Amino acid sequence: MRTDINEFMEALKARTPGEQEFHQAVHEVVESIWDVYLKNPRYQKTRILERMVEPERVIMFRVPWIDDQGEVRINRGYRVEFNSALGPYKGGLRFHPTVTLSILKFLGFEQTFKNSLTTLPMGGGKGGSDFSPKGKSDNEIMRFCQSFMTELQRHIGPDTDVPAGDIGVGGREIGYLFGQYKRIRNEFTGVLTGKGLAWGGSLIRPEATGFGAVYFVSYMLERLGKEIAGHTFAVSGFGNVAWGAISKINELGGKVVTISGPDGYVYDSAGIKDEKVDYLLELRATNNDVVEPYAAEFGAEFHPGKKPWEQKVDIALPCATQNEVDLDDAKMLVANGCFLLAEASNMGCTAEAVDYLVNHLNYAPGKAVNAGGVAVSGLEMTQNSQRLNWTREEVDARLHLIMREIHETCVLHGNNGQRINYVKGANVGGFVKVANAMLAQGVV
Ligand code: GLU
Repeated sequence: MRTDINEFMEALKARTPGEQEFHQAVHEVVESIWDVYLKNPRYQKTRILERMVEPERVIMFRVPWIDDQGEVRINRGYRVEFNSALGPYKGGLRFHPTVTLSILKFLGFEQTFKNSLTTLPMGGGKGGSDFSPKGKSDNEIMRFCQSFMTELQRHIGPDTDVPAGDIGVGGREIGYLFGQYKRIRNEFTGVLTGKGLAWGGSLIRPEATGFGAVYFVSYMLERLGKEIAGHTFAVSGFGNVAWGAISKINELGGKVVTISGPDGYVYDSAGIKDEKVDYLLELRATNNDVVEPYAAEFGAEFHPGKKPWEQKVDIALPCATQNEVDLDDAKMLVANGCFLLAEASNMGCTAEAVDYLVNHLNYAPGKAVNAGGVAVSGLEMTQNSQRLNWTREEVDARLHLIMREIHETCVLHGNNGQRINYVKGANVGGFVKVANAMLAQGVV
């Protein structure tokens, strides 16, 4: 039985050498739930934490495919089935050259708590490949998706494991993956979410992560006696999440002045709105991830190799990838008057940045802020089970309700009398439900 956080972390690191991102994610959770864990002898007796940090199953496989020149290419595919205490494994697939087992374990671990917070019956999982969609033709992407699903299909199912999109996996990829699943299994089921509307998809799913993040921010602002309208936002990334967030911020009267890519960031003092938001989708559809063309198209400033956090804004909304805000960025944001940072990306801030931010502004972590995406995935699963399609209004109303409940859970568990500690609130809220389900289900 371990009674010390350092001892617990050392033991984990010894068992999982080199998995830095995973250690970072576990450490953040363990630190904030430690007092809750110590208070319940049954958690310790049944080694609930040690069991929680070990994925139930990890699948790794070869993904061979043929490029447009007829050459054979090989990538590695993964599915980490992390925790099924609350429901079938649920979580996205990421196609990006930075994908490793450590990254997917951190994402699957986070997903377990995020899904618990949504109030819907979903376990946690994550998968993907080190395949880079950048510069690939549509046919190459289709052949890669087909090969990936040829192996993955034997491990998933609507009551077992339900993947969805993440970085590098959008509606087009979900279509190719679904087509191959159906062809091999001869089953039309809700095995994936993020499907097209005509074949089992849900309204609002593409926008859900961004919309949900903005709803969450509006609940944070409400507590401070403020609202979205009249505030300026720095957004990073320019994919699905950024696009959904920017659309909703504009609708609610806020102003977004930045987007970014691996080439640098764009500062548009006039605000990224109207036809400029549609342009983001067109730019993305080219299978490239650079933002410089936006600056050229609309006469905005382009800052090569830089991050948007050096600009003076009221609210920062990281929407790209893990560890995109470091301690220097965090200090710069605070020095320039930023009063709220909400992670729409997963683990968008480094551990040092989080330590600084929780004491200097209103900070909320990805597992609470970006849970709207997987929440609407959960609603897509429900619609598939019912064989019904809900209206836009119905899905949006439920998304609102879920984001409000997640916010209330954070306030309930994270209220230390001064500023709400959203990290503690989200971690404790997510943990207790999963831990109690695991207790009820015995040592398995
Ligand atoms: N990839 C998204 C996330 O990080 C969505 C997962 C899903 O819809 O299953 O939560």
